[in-house]
Parts: sequence; structure tokens; C-alpha cells
Amino acid sequence: MSIRQYNFFFSQNPTQIAVAERHPDKLFQFYTNGTLITKEVTRHIAAMGNLVPLVSVHGFQKETDAIRGNGVYERVMRTMDYLTQAGVVWGISFVLTSQNIDVFDAGFLDTMVEKGAMLGRFLTYMPTGRGSDWNLVPTPNQREKQGEILRTFNSSGIPFFGIDYMNNPDFVKGCQAAGIRYVYVDSEANVYPCVFLPVPSIFNLKDAYQGVYSQQGLEVRNLRDILIKDPLFRKIRELAKQRDDHKCCLIIDNPAELKEACSMLAFAYPVSDFSGFFQNELGQAMLKEYISLLRNYAR
Ligand code: SF4
Repeated sequence: MSIRQYNFFFSQNPTQIAVAERHPDKLFQFYTNGTLITKEVTRHIAAMGNLVPLVSVHGFQKETDAIRGNGVYERVMRTMDYLTQAGVVWGISFVLTSQNIDVFDAGFLDTMVEKGAMLGRFLTYMPTGRGSDWNLVPTPNQREKQGEILRTFNSSGIPFFGIDYMNNPDFVKGCQAAGIRYVYVDSEANVYPCVFLPVPSIFNLKDAYQGVYSQQGLEVRNLRDILIKDPLFRKIRELAKQRDDHKCCLIIDNPAELKEACSMLAFAYPVSDFSGFFQNELGQAMLKEYISLLRNYAR
């Protein structure tokens, strides 16, 4: 049986569950805040056998509730118990910020293993979108510390594997964006190089499947074609190949490359909204400011 892995930002949406049910030979890993997973839902997940929930938790009560809201940590702990009791393989999704590195010294990973977690995705806070807070971006030392802790934990023989492709990149070889090993597809079938890079492909996945581009004489019929034909995606993969895996993020480690990729949009997509945006004064000013903040950070 060939196992392919799909990651979902999952909302217990019946359509998403139906997709997983239609493909029992595929593994679907999904992110959840865990608050809506009841005992009944865990029984269903266990019976399906091809869903791996990653429950968002950012430390203990103080750190998790600070990000997710009061009372969430307690509900998440309950969900973890339900998942373990039902025999589901599950993991955690942890976002490193400047505020929560100390949880590792306080036994956070041991607590998660005791709860029954078997894997973890360790992400790094990315300053993107309107509500982003640069004060929450972890320092390079904090990122390095997380990477080191996971390397030690992963080789300790404890049945838990922590994946952190940014700060401990040896396992997955650094940045996965633009189809290297990952793309982000939103609910309207727009395809993005990375969930943190809000610049979609000029080709929409649904349009590709419905033959819109074929009618225009373009060979863009599926996701593979989009990844091959989209010039921005090709450029990002090309830039990633030349990069040191230990400084791998296009966005927070390599702002000059991000600028190069964004600036080429104007040439690649002369008629798209995004190229228009980067050509106009506001877009240029925003790009300049963002890149300068990133440069300060990546220094
Ligand atoms: S661009 Fe940065 S955040 Fe996106 S996949 Fe690459 S390393 Fe991860």
C-alpha cells in the first residue's frame, strides 16, 4: 500500500471527512484546536484509521490560553485523553514564539508523551497578516534551542518524533514551499507556495480540473501542472535549492530572496491583481517596510 500524506487545516467539515473516507489508503494529518473533538468524534477517527489529528498546544495553561483563549488548555487536555483512550495515533502542533521557549525546560514534551502524543509539528511564529506582532517572533537563539531540544528528544528512544523543518532541518531538508514537499490550497482552490506567503498561483486548482486553462490552449489540468507551469513556484524552488538548510526559510531567513520573488510577479503576472499591487506605490512601500523588518530580524 502506498501511503501519501495530506495535511488539512481541519474543521470537522463533513466534506473533508468524506474525502478521507473515500481514500482509505492515504494518510490525512490534520490540525485542530481540539475543542470540538468529542468522545464520539474520536471513536469515528479511530474507526477510520487514516486520520492523524495534530492538536494545537503552545505550552502549559498560561502559554496556550494566552494564544488560544481562556479555558482552551483544559479542553485540549480532555481531548488528548479521549484520543488516547480511543487508540488514535495523534500528535501536537506547537508554535514557538518569543514567549514560550521555557516550557521545554519545564517538562512540556514529557507531559505530552505522558498524555499519549506520538509526534509533533513544531512551527515558528511568522509575522504575516494584519494582526502580526513582531515581538512574538522568536530570536535566533530561541529557534536554535528548540532545534537542539528536538534533536536530543528524537534520538532518546522515547516513542515521540518532533518535526521542525525550520530549526531542525536535517530530517526534511529545509524549506518545503512551492511544491518541494508542500503547498497550501485554500477553500477556494487558490494554490499558495506556503501558507505564510499570501501570493497565490495565477492558476486556480478548481479551474484547472474544470478545463478552464485547457480551453485557453494551456496544459494546466491538475496540481502537478500548476507546480510545473507557475513561474513563481519554479523560482521559489530554484532559490531554495541554493540555500543552506539551516537558514532555510524564504520569508524570515532570506528576505532578499523574498523581495526577488515578489518583484518578479510584476513580470510573471502582468495582468494579475498581485502584480498590480506590487507595482503601485502602496504595494512597493509595504514590500519595502516588510523586507526591512525582516532584514533586521534575519541579520
Ligand atoms: S517559506 Fe518558510 S514558512 Fe514557508 S515552507 Fe519555507 S521555511 Fe516554511
